[in-house]
Amino acid sequence: MTYRVLVTDEIDPDGVALLRSAPELEVDEVPTLPAAELLERIGGYDGIVGRSATRISRELLEQGERLRVVGRAGVGVDNVDLEKATQLGIAVLNAPGGNTVSVAELAFGVLLALARNVHTAATSMERGAWDRSRLGGIELRGRTMAIIGLGRIGGEVARRARGFGMELVGYDPYVSATRFEDLGVERYDRLATALEKADVLTLHVPLTSETQGMIGPAELARLRPGTLVLNLARGGIIAEDALMDALRSSRIAGAALDVFAGEPLAADHPLRSCPNLLLTPHLGASTTEAQRSVAVEACAAVRDALVTGDLSAALNAAGVGGTGWAELRSLLELADRLGRLGRTLLPGALNTVELRYAGPREEAPRPLLLAALRGALHDVVDRRAINLVNAQHVATERGIETAWTQVAGRTEGGQDIELRMDGGDRSVRVGGAVFGDTHGRITRIGSFRVDIAPRGTLLVLRNRDVPGVIGRVGTLLGEAGVNIAEYHQARLNAGGEALAAVSVDSPLTSDTLDRLSHLPEVLDARQVQMD
Ligand code: NAD
Repeated sequence: MTYRVLVTDEIDPDGVALLRSAPELEVDEVPTLPAAELLERIGGYDGIVGRSATRISRELLEQGERLRVVGRAGVGVDNVDLEKATQLGIAVLNAPGGNTVSVAELAFGVLLALARNVHTAATSMERGAWDRSRLGGIELRGRTMAIIGLGRIGGEVARRARGFGMELVGYDPYVSATRFEDLGVERYDRLATALEKADVLTLHVPLTSETQGMIGPAELARLRPGTLVLNLARGGIIAEDALMDALRSSRIAGAALDVFAGEPLAADHPLRSCPNLLLTPHLGASTTEAQRSVAVEACAAVRDALVTGDLSAALNAAGVGGTGWAELRSLLELADRLGRLGRTLLPGALNTVELRYAGPREEAPRPLLLAALRGALHDVVDRRAINLVNAQHVATERGIETAWTQVAGRTEGGQDIELRMDGGDRSVRVGGAVFGDTHGRITRIGSFRVDIAPRGTLLVLRNRDVPGVIGRVGTLLGEAGVNIAEYHQARLNAGGEALAAVSVDSPLTSDTLDRLSHLPEVLDARQVQMD
């Protein structure tokens, strides 16, 4: 299978080369295209990779009939209509790690500039001045840096700050105490306490509803006079008006901003003339190395998503990100097959889908539920295939309630999945197991214990437990030219009802299925396509 990928926005050639080296990908590279031209071309592509210059609008996503993956060589995806992409099952992938060191280094570039008045000195020299007495600075050694957000960039900033002999305090309620310890950062549970300690305040949090305006007038008022403030994270985390007030009134000594509430910053924006404020035009990731590594990271994610279905870098595949994808693969496949099987046994209304995972992997249940939903609902979405990106959306849209639970696994190391589907007056329970890195097996259909591989076409027959049934089923299938790969017969008690799970090499025609279900002992016959 060949996938076509459109590369745009002049992303680094190393990324493009990586895509071109994959035999499954056919790559076209174009400069940033006008929206109308891109709209015309997008229909032929399975994936697109670009930077922020190309807007991935709702219209473009809708027009991209084949589109499955959008790659962004960078972090922010403000240029992508994420909601529409999720709805259409298009994975949006970014490259969160590639910028880290560049941003951390710029933090020290601007911090040293503020501490030693480098920028002011440089412009005064250009004016012909020799301002030695006015431009005295401070040392970083021994000063306290408060780092807000101890993620990738915050962590790299901490490592470098220690090299300068700084004391470190931090606030990030979402990372472990161990990470603080490893980075040598004293942990505070309250932002206010960290602010009160700071000689330098540096922000490395994402822009969320919680961090929007996180540093406003009240927070700036807590800072000691003489504090330096850095924002290289996202515009809007510091209230810009409040920052200008604090600088004008010398409440704080200086600040550096690389990011702004509105970008590009207007030519006449009051920030530009604010005293002691060092501005850079969103340069955090603007290094040769960062551009190369984000391109390579985004292109690798796009290649893996298209070629192997690995969505671990997808921003919009809720709960899938960051998992050991390869190790989950057998489980995901099994969950999908159980979804198909359950749905075949429970056609009609579907109200609830519940997945129970027994095993050690904490990250597993959520993606497994998505995979089960994909299996259960794979024939309800008309235009595009349902996938792990839009499975939850498709279920919610149809009023299907979903849930998952995790329990401890078996001692011998197997991992089990049980799927229950409820349709109001009827319900069904199916289960399966994976041992080690082998393919999964279906181990339960309703109350019956079975053991069959979820491959090819699976027939599920309910029959009366009387002699000769297996022979008659075999003969009928043989006459129809259908080869049996595996036949598993299960019963609850002798002479009662039995269940046969029969794996066959080719699908039955509706006529053969009909004849099968009309054999005298057979109560019900269904077939489900497993791949
Ligand atoms: P990350 O996800 O690795 O780290 C973010 C950290 O913030 C996490 O540890 C998280 O727990 C923490 N956090 C989230 N909400 C918080 C809250 N309310 N209070 C305290 N901590 C909170 O992200 P990263 O890669 O380190 O990026 C950090 C920021 O830098 C992001 O805003 C990113 O967009 C920005 N960035 C800017 C540039 C640039 O060019 N200037 C480039 C890359 C990244």
